[in-house]
Amino acid sequence: MNPRKLVIGNWKMNGSVPRLRSFAALAAAAPGGCPAALCVPYPLLPAAQTLLAATPLLWGAQDCSAEDEGAHTGEVSARMLAELGVRYVIVGQSERRAAHGETDGQVALKARRALAAGLTPVVCIGESAEERDAEQTALALRRQLLQLARTLGRELGAVVLAYEPVWAIGSGQALAPGLIDDTHAVIAELLAFHAGLPAGTVPILYGGSVNARNAQAILGRQQVAGVLVGGASLEAADFMAIWQAAAHQGREVSGIGA
Ligand code: PEP
Repeated sequence: MNPRKLVIGNWKMNGSVPRLRSFAALAAAAPGGCPAALCVPYPLLPAAQTLLAATPLLWGAQDCSAEDEGAHTGEVSARMLAELGVRYVIVGQSERRAAHGETDGQVALKARRALAAGLTPVVCIGESAEERDAEQTALALRRQLLQLARTLGRELGAVVLAYEPVWAIGSGQALAPGLIDDTHAVIAELLAFHAGLPAGTVPILYGGSVNARNAQAILGRQQVAGVLVGGASLEAADFMAIWQAAAHQGREVSGIGA
């Protein structure tokens, strides 16, 4: 597995230009060698491009259209995002699945558009509380991954996956690090079996109530390639602490030393 851990922040429908400015000020002194990106609301992307370009912090978006162009009022295409210097785009985050009825099929099409535009889709998968209670976590993950494999074929190897137990998002209760490791191992097995992708090909992030206090323990797990952070990505100091924890882990794994 790539020892460099990835940190993605999801600002959701929050943030402002002054907030971006405070991130840019701190990011100028950020840890090198460990990628991190802030996925901001669309209207903030031009400011992100201006303010973050000279820092190691990348910027991204929280969704893209499943279409390339045309009569799709309110939609934003992956190509438009690429023109704003976007590197990562989150697709299939559970709030979009729940509030906008996005299906596994639509999420897979969005990921395909993102890849075609040269972006890296961060594809969110995860079980609901009901699926967890019915012990159907592996089944839910298999359903979501099968759709991705059908739509993307070998290109599935170019996405970043984010395993986000839906019930853990915004709850303050992250899944225990040992269980995260176990579930990531299940996802790696499903990828190998259904898509022929050897373990480690697809980075698997964890998301769901990651914060500055639990980041080190989660990022220290072998199967965890990084984290997708919602609430805690809104405070520059918290986000920087998580980024530092990721950089520290990356150095430990590669043997360079902290
Ligand atoms: C998310 O927005 O995908 C997320 C994981 O949020 P939080 O970190 O707030 O749980």
